Amino acid sequence: MQKQYRLLYDENLCIGCQACSVACRMENSVPDNVYRVQVHMKTLGVFPNLGMQYERHSCVMCENPPCVSVCPTNASFQSKDGLVHIDEKSCISCKYCILACPYHARFINPLKNVVEKCTFCYETRVSKELLPACVSTCPTDALSFGDMRQKESLVHQKSQKEVLVFPKAHLGTKPKVAFIPNRKGIKS
Ligand code: SF4
Ligand code: SF4
Repeated sequence: MQKQYRLLYDENLCIGCQACSVACRMENSVPDNVYRVQVHMKTLGVFPNLGMQYERHSCVMCENPPCVSVCPTNASFQSKDGLVHIDEKSCISCKYCILACPYHARFINPLKNVVEKCTFCYETRVSKELLPACVSTCPTDALSFGDMRQKESLVHQKSQKEVLVFPKAHLGTKPKVAFIPNRKGIKS
């Protein structure tokens, strides 16, 4: 049976510690100055009435991935489970996929000279029934991941309970990453 993976990022629980980004770097040997996942911080409000907001940036595993359709060598491809991967041996570094990705999620690995992005840690973790490194490391449980067909899973239950935002949904890319938006607000 094909899986229906989803990764949820709860902006209300994130504290911007970057542990997810560091865990990803270690798990995937991501070189300095490039990243597969990063959490950006934004300041909200006007002094002294300030608040912080955090935003996760990474591949959102589109169900309709523009990066795949532009790839001239089929190095970018989609698995049966709908995850988007890159075959390093077939990548010619033409950068078409980098330009096609509306989420700015791809980059050239300067050590290997091939394109990379988040893979949900599929090879090293998810295919072995482990959580992606970022999810297992987050100290506040801001991240949850799993198969949406499993009704008892946290990712399914949270998806039922919360209002979800799918980034740039208007593009029709159908992301497998969803956000639970910040509802802290700024006190007046
Ligand atoms: S976010 Fe970008 S790299 Fe990831 S699947 Fe979508 S188009 Fe491809
Ligand atoms: S590890 Fe968790 S709390 Fe820390 S930045 Fe990442 S998502 Fe936010």
